Amino acid sequence: MKLITVGSVAFDAIETPFGKTDKIVGGAGSYIALTASYFAQNTGLVSVIGDDFDQDFLGHITGRGVNLEGLETKEGEKSFFWSGKYHNDMNSRDTLVTELNVLGDFQPKVPESYHGADFLMLGNLSPDVQMQVIDQLPNRPKLVVLDTMNFWMDIAWDDLMKVLTKIDVLTINDEEARQLSKEYSLVKAAQKIMEMGPKYLIIKKGEHGALLFNKENQVFFAPALPLEEVFDPTGAGDTFAGGFIGYLASTNDISFENMKRAIIVGSAMASFCVEKFGTERLMNLSQEEIQTRIEEFVGLTQFDMSLAL
Ligand code: AMP
Repeated sequence: MKLITVGSVAFDAIETPFGKTDKIVGGAGSYIALTASYFAQNTGLVSVIGDDFDQDFLGHITGRGVNLEGLETKEGEKSFFWSGKYHNDMNSRDTLVTELNVLGDFQPKVPESYHGADFLMLGNLSPDVQMQVIDQLPNRPKLVVLDTMNFWMDIAWDDLMKVLTKIDVLTINDEEARQLSKEYSLVKAAQKIMEMGPKYLIIKKGEHGALLFNKENQVFFAPALPLEEVFDPTGAGDTFAGGFIGYLASTNDISFENMKRAIIVGSAMASFCVEKFGTERLMNLSQEEIQTRIEEFVGLTQFDMSLAL
C-alpha cells in the first residue's frame, strides 16, 4: 500500500442558496479517497459505516482502485450523519446536525496489508482515532498529513494537541487557524501552530485560495479559481487534501517545491468539487479535464516582469 486515507464516510444533508439535498454521500474520507484515486495507485481507506451506507458509491471507488479492507461495516447501526446550511456568501455555514452514530465509539483497525505505506492522510475525525491509526503502523510513513476542524478543537483539545506532535503537515481553514493559535495574524498563527508539532501548515481560505508555510519561514500562496458559480462548497477542503496527498504519493517527492505543485493540484480538484452537490462532480472526471484545470491555475498566477524598475 502506498497511501492510507482516513476520515468519515458519511451521509450529508446540505442546504445552499441554490438548493437543498436529502441524504447524499459525504464525509471527509469519501472525498479524500475518491480524489486521491485520480493520482495515486494503491490507496487504502480506513473508516466505519453502518449497514445503511450507499453500496454504489463504494463500488465506484473500489472500481477506481481504492482498497476498502480497512472500511468496517457495523451491522444494525447507522452511518455518520452531518447536516449543514450555507450563508449567502457561501463561505460560512452553520452545522445543523452532527450524529456520530457508528463514529461514536469507532476503534480503527488498520489491516496488515496497509502496513508499510509511505503516505498517510488523516482526514477529519476525532483526534483520538487519528492517533490510533498512527500508533497501529509499525513503520512511520514518510509523510503524515492531518486535517481537523473547529468541532474537535471545542471538544477534544488535549487529544488534538497530542496528535499534532506526531504529524508533518496540518491543513485547516483560516478561522480554525485563528482558533487554534489564538492569533489574528495568519503569519503569527502559522508560527505558533508549527511550534505545536507540524513542520508544514496549509491554511485554506476558501474562495481566497490557500497558504503553505514551513518552519524555515518559506511561504507559498495558491489562488482559488474564480468560478462563475459555486454550487456547494461541502467537501472542498477534503477534496483539496485528497488532491494534495494523491499528487505527493504519485510523485513520491515531499520537497517544498513539490508541495507547491501538490497545492495547485488540490486547489484544481477542489474547484471541481464545488460545482455540484456532494461528490457528484468528482465521480467521473477525465484526465483532460483535470489537466486543463491545472493549466488554468498556472495561467492565473503567471506573469513576466522586469525587475529593473
Ligand atoms: P469540508 O466541507 O471539507 O469541511 O467537509 C465536509 C465533510 O465533513 C462533510 O461531508 C461531513 O460529512 C464531514 N464532517 C462534518 N463534521 C464532521 C466531523 N465532526 N467529523 C468527521 N467528519 C465530519
